[in-house]
Amino acid sequence: MHGLRDALEQSQKDGVAIGHFNVADWVLLKAVLASGQELKVPVVVGASEGKREFIGVRQIAALVRSVREECDYPIFLNADHTHSLPKAVEAAKAGFDAIVFDLSALPFEQNVRQTKEAIEAIKTINSAILVEGEIGDIGTGSEIHEKAPDLSRGLTSPAEAKQFVESTGVDILAPAVGNMHGMLKSMVQGQTRKRLDIERIAQIKSAVQVPLTLHGGSGTDDEDLRKAIAAGINIIHINTELRVAWRRGLEEGLGKQPREVVPYKILPFAVESVKKVARSRLKLFNADR
Ligand SMILES: [Zn+2]
Repeated sequence: MHGLRDALEQSQKDGVAIGHFNVADWVLLKAVLASGQELKVPVVVGASEGKREFIGVRQIAALVRSVREECDYPIFLNADHTHSLPKAVEAAKAGFDAIVFDLSALPFEQNVRQTKEAIEAIKTINSAILVEGEIGDIGTGSEIHEKAPDLSRGLTSPAEAKQFVESTGVDILAPAVGNMHGMLKSMVQGQTRKRLDIERIAQIKSAVQVPLTLHGGSGTDDEDLRKAIAAGINIIHINTELRVAWRRGLEEGLGKQPREVVPYKILPFAVESVKKVARSRLKLFNADR
């Protein structure tokens, strides 16, 4: 099995992006993995600190490993938004393929210094693991927000991106290019879409030589996502859209069977609902394959 680095290189050559989907339970994981398998495209399963705490760090790693052994398409596991070195070390030891080491809330210099130190520590545990660093402001949680935060001042500049990549040695960069964690109510209702700064993505791509990740992809305009991939985005994160689908599917399963108590008769509705979203996003990221 080739590693994530190879998969990223291949995606860059093919002009496609790898879908990154956050999972917090077996329903989400099952749906994401089934989508990748159906389309025969690589997927990255993401678990941030809160989700790792819920499922168990070693347990999610074991689940992904066991599925990986039985399938013929690449599955990778990413420790999403990790805010401290001990949490990063824990994920590296459990066998994660990548870690998003996110100190973007700190001042730039501090972010650089601590990210560099963390990379050294993480690579001594597993030299093949990829570490992603983050600069700029892309908002907080992957939830439904009442109103749009002003992220305009936190956009990543190409010069800053270059300096950050060169002085930290990150394998992957997550810039702020108009993207935002979570969705607005109007986005969930389908009335508005997020728009991206495509020009900025292209400028950052030519300033740095590493793969780029787009966080907060949920609710983004389809055409903007296609353009972002063409401009150099290699990984796209989808979380909130899956959460919305998970809840809707669960409600459908409960609503259609008001007296049912058997989990494996209720939960397949949630799996199907999440699968529909993951599949359509993967199709888009992989040039409508
Ligand atoms: Zn994120």
